Amino acid sequence: MNRNSKHIVVVGGGYVGLYTVLRLQRTLRRELREGSVRITVLTPESHMTYQPFLPEAAAGNLSPRHVVVPLRRVLPKATILNGKATKIDHAAKRVCFEPNVGAPYELDYDIVVMAAGSVSRTLPIPGLADAAIGFKTVGEAIALRNRVLGLLDRAESSGDEALRRRALTFVVVGGGFAGIEALAELEDMALDAARYYHDVRREDMRWVLVEATDRILPEVGPEMGMWTAEQLRERGIEVKMKTRLESCEGGLVTLSDGDEFESATIVWTAGVKPSPVVNAGDLPLDERGRIKTSTRLTVVGVQDAFAAGDVAGVPDMTNPGQYCAPNAQHAVRQAKVLADNITRRLRGQEMVDYRHRYVGSVAGLGLYKGVANVYGVKLRGLPAWFMHRTYHLSRVPTLNRKVRVMADWTLALFFKRETVSLGEIEAPREEFRAAATA
Ligand SMILES: Cc1cc2nc3c(=O)[nH]c(=O)nc-3n(C[C@H](O)[C@H](O)[C@H](O)COP(=O)(O)OP(=O)(O)OC[C@H]3O[C@@H](n4cnc5c(N)ncnc54)[C@H](O)[C@@H]3O)c2cc1C
Repeated sequence: MNRNSKHIVVVGGGYVGLYTVLRLQRTLRRELREGSVRITVLTPESHMTYQPFLPEAAAGNLSPRHVVVPLRRVLPKATILNGKATKIDHAAKRVCFEPNVGAPYELDYDIVVMAAGSVSRTLPIPGLADAAIGFKTVGEAIALRNRVLGLLDRAESSGDEALRRRALTFVVVGGGFAGIEALAELEDMALDAARYYHDVRREDMRWVLVEATDRILPEVGPEMGMWTAEQLRERGIEVKMKTRLESCEGGLVTLSDGDEFESATIVWTAGVKPSPVVNAGDLPLDERGRIKTSTRLTVVGVQDAFAAGDVAGVPDMTNPGQYCAPNAQHAVRQAKVLADNITRRLRGQEMVDYRHRYVGSVAGLGLYKGVANVYGVKLRGLPAWFMHRTYHLSRVPTLNRKVRVMADWTLALFFKRETVSLGEIEAPREEFRAAATA
């Protein structure tokens, strides 16, 4: 290792982490080859998760392995260390790193890139931490799929009416694209699965969306949001707007509209907040707790620190006074500008501003169903679903992933999707432990 080399440490291996390093591998090819620059990525997982595909993975349309990108394979010029950054001491240019296993240690850097994304934003609601699950990781998506299908099995196998009702009641809190897509895809899968059961029909299930404001899917605008709510209601999904979850202790759900019922599945997708790593250290934060970032994607007031994506408060140059929303559309584009600004900084050149006007969004609502509002073009149903799939296929990183995703979808045209719960993978030692202690 060249002791005088510039060390770039990237905190987070999601959208921003992956795309920043992909670009640096190209723009700094010579420096990386000569050893005058080295890159280290700190991230708990060995993969980047393509989050817009999580609802399709939960619904069994895509294999979980195909919605993630293996970091070591696509970032061969970077060292990937699995664990979490716990503190950034930028004055000393040092990051505290806690590997997934083993003792914490410190790493020195010359340039730091904050790309740690966000975590679910929860509220102090009684029972929430114990009874609910988020929808941000591939683990959560697959656990939910197994859970929903496992609960259909449970309902079919039980004669206890109260237990059946609890098992067949599914609640999603939060009407953004994560919540709506998760709800719509899971309900669509459960409807498909119900045909294989003798005593579980769609009418036996209760699917409830709880949204605190008076609109859902703000990403596609008010008109398409209203259309989506109507579509979901036509499918028998209860869409409760201006309603809050007040308690869910032991799975007893209490809503602000007075409704009270038991549910074995409560999914919480009501917003995100920056990764907690921003709270430890000396990087400046804005009023919403994100890293205070300039239009050049540098951290305000310091040198050699960059930030982008959900963790950063980046001023939206197309919308003065506003910040860029936390979404993949900005994260990917910011990462490219950020990487180029690092290259410019290393070469003593002037950095450039990040500027992108939000173009709208697409959302899948189950097989052959979707909604889209892109560049002001509003699409509903099958055309929107087709657009959703083609857009995300074009966006998922690497040709390898595109081919795998395409293969999954093509197979699904000829064979029905698998609707079997593999819940036992969450407790793989149970069977052996029972045998060993019998
Ligand atoms: C279900 C779902 C669907 C979505 N659909 C869309 C969509 O259709 N369109 C759209 O534009 N956006 C969508 N989004 C939002 C989009 O995925 C995010 O805005 C985007 O992932 C943000 O990128 P990021 O790099 O900032 O964070 P992430 O991609 O979340 O990456 C953050 C990374 O940092 C790691 N990390 C966290 N803390 C630490 C730490 N202390 N040390 C080291 N590493 C750390 C995390 O493990 C993760 O790997 C969706 C999100 C979800 C959850």
